[in-house]
This record gives sequence, C-alpha cells and structure tokens, in this order.
Amino acid sequence: MKASLATEVGGKFTTHDIQIDDPRGREVLVDVKASGLCHSDLHLIDHDYGMPLPAVGGHEISGVVRSVASGVTSMKVGDHVVACLIPFCGACAECLAGHSTLCLNPAAVSRGEDESPRISFADGSAIAQSVNVGGFAEQVLVHENQLAVVNNEIPFPQAALLGCSVVTGAGAAINTAHIRPGDTVAVVGTGGIGLNAISGARLCGAKNVIAVDIVDSKLEAAKKFGATDVINSAETDAVAAIQELTGGVDHAFEVIGISATQRQVQEMTRPGGTAYLIGIAPPGATTSFDSSLADLFAQRSLQAVLMGSTNVKRDIALYADMYVQGRFELDGLVTREISLSEINEGYEMLKKGEVIRSIITSF
Ligand SMILES: [Zn+2]
Ligand SMILES: [Zn+2]
Repeated sequence: MKASLATEVGGKFTTHDIQIDDPRGREVLVDVKASGLCHSDLHLIDHDYGMPLPAVGGHEISGVVRSVASGVTSMKVGDHVVACLIPFCGACAECLAGHSTLCLNPAAVSRGEDESPRISFADGSAIAQSVNVGGFAEQVLVHENQLAVVNNEIPFPQAALLGCSVVTGAGAAINTAHIRPGDTVAVVGTGGIGLNAISGARLCGAKNVIAVDIVDSKLEAAKKFGATDVINSAETDAVAAIQELTGGVDHAFEVIGISATQRQVQEMTRPGGTAYLIGIAPPGATTSFDSSLADLFAQRSLQAVLMGSTNVKRDIALYADMYVQGRFELDGLVTREISLSEINEGYEMLKKGEVIRSIITSF
C-alpha cells in the first residue's frame, strides 16, 4: 500500500510502497478515507524530538473498518471509525475512573519489541507509526482502543478532525474546564484547536466567548464557531479589553504555546478564575506566573491540559452526533482537500497560516 514517510530530520515527506500486517489480538485494519495534516506531525521532520524514523506520519484519520482480529469487541467490519492519538489500556485505575489521558499503561496499545512490526518495508525492516496510527497511508493497523465508531452520516474529512484538534479544543472547554451556563471565557489563538475550544464553550452555554488573535480572518472564523466578541491583540491590549468587558473571565485558554500569551491568559482571569495552557511550547521554553500575595489570595488557578481530558470512545462519537444534528461546527475547519503526494505543499501552507486544515482525501 502507498504511504508517506518521514525518513530524516530536515527532510521531506516521501511516498513509498510499504507492507501492512494482518490484525492480531485487538487490532483493527482500517481503509483510510480522510487524513488531516496536523501541525504536530511536522515535528517528525522539523526538529529532532527523538521520535523513531523512518515513520509514517499522520494521526487524524477517519475510515471504514476493513477487518478485525478475534479479540476486537467494540467494532465490526464496515463501521465508520475515527482514530485518536490517545493511547490507553482501558484496565488501569485511571482508565477505569474515565481518565484515558492519564493511563498508567499506554504501551498496551502497541506491539511489543519482540513482535513483528505492524508496517514494514518489503525486506521486513520496521517502519514506525506516528502515535501508533501512521495515518498518511491507504490503510492503518491500530489497536481498537485508539478508534471510536462514529455516526456514518458525518463526512469523512470532518470526521477525521474529531480525533485530534476537536477533542483537544472542545474537550478542554467541556471536560477540563467544566464550563457552566453563564460563565465567561477567553480563547487566545484561534487556529484549529482554538476554534474548537470556542465550540466547546458555546456548547456549555458560556455567556461571553471572547476570541483573541492577531489575524482578522481568523477572528471572523471564530464568530462562526460561537465567539461573541473578538479582539485583535495586534491593535488592542487584549488583557485590558477583557478586564473592561467582563471584569476578568472565569476561564482563559492559551492555545499557542508562547510565554507572552501564557502570561496574558493568567492576567485575563477574574479572582477565582482559571487559566488553561493547551499550546505546546518548544523544548526548553519556560513560562512564569505572578505569585504575588494578592494573586494567591484571589485563588486564581493555572491548569495544563492534555488532549482535552478526552474519553476517546464517548467524546468522539458525541461530537459526530452533534455535528449531524447541526449543533457542532466542523465544516469551517476543512479548508482544503489534497492528495497524498501533496503533503509537503500542504504543510507549507499550514506553516504560513494560509489554511486551517488540509485533509488528504485521495491516495
Ligand atoms: Zn494532531
Ligand atoms: Zn490505562
């Protein structure tokens, strides 16, 4: 089958013909119908983060179950499924408490080092799967825990985004922050994840959902996802504007991963409010927080968020159903459909901020 590989840091994605094994244990073979270009897969080639290479990138996929191994109980051939990069065993104390993102045994969804690889070159040498998925390919072989069955009325490109940017953004609002009707919310950074945090805040019934960015077109998009107010922070002091509008918000989300905006979200909150850090900072970066006595007595909180505290099977199916009901915006996230051979161009556009998401829909 055809797949796009990262082979060296500093290189490009290149298309190869590779082998894929039959499913065993609790594995599922999926025919990929759509595969999103998430920024994090660019990290396979743009910096040395220590990820194994060669690897097939891609983890935002949707598709149809082609075959299942005998141990699979949660899906069947023909089901429409969405992959998620959260590895969880389903049996440890954290998993049983519903905290998949805190799983104590995430290796349970991978093959052991003594087993043959899921994907390989023709000579049998192993190829790594990005986050156990490897979705820039015609097919993926994945543990059933990393797949959610979804409503088959949702189009494949929209569905593909559910497993990463949607769960990360919407989950932060719904699961991590537990936003309640009437709460006030600010979201700093309105790319794919920020727009989904706005969607999640709207679903929860937030009163003000204030979007902050430096690109006017992104702020316009934010309104479609439920922002009630927008602030261009290149022109306006966003902290002062939010304090004036709301007296400080209950929840402020940072989605970029830079210290200046991480500091801003803390200053945007009201006493008792919480700042949430979703954006991933480059290796070695540090952030600071104001620990003055007045601030501590105001009981402000700072919370890091991993993958929207998502419960894979429940949340992805829920968002798909709400999309089909017309209550969850996804269409505005799918900005360009491309072929497998256009990955490098797709990433160039993402780096320039020209698209929210390119999705591979032909292989
Ligand atoms: Zn992703
Ligand atoms: Zn677990």
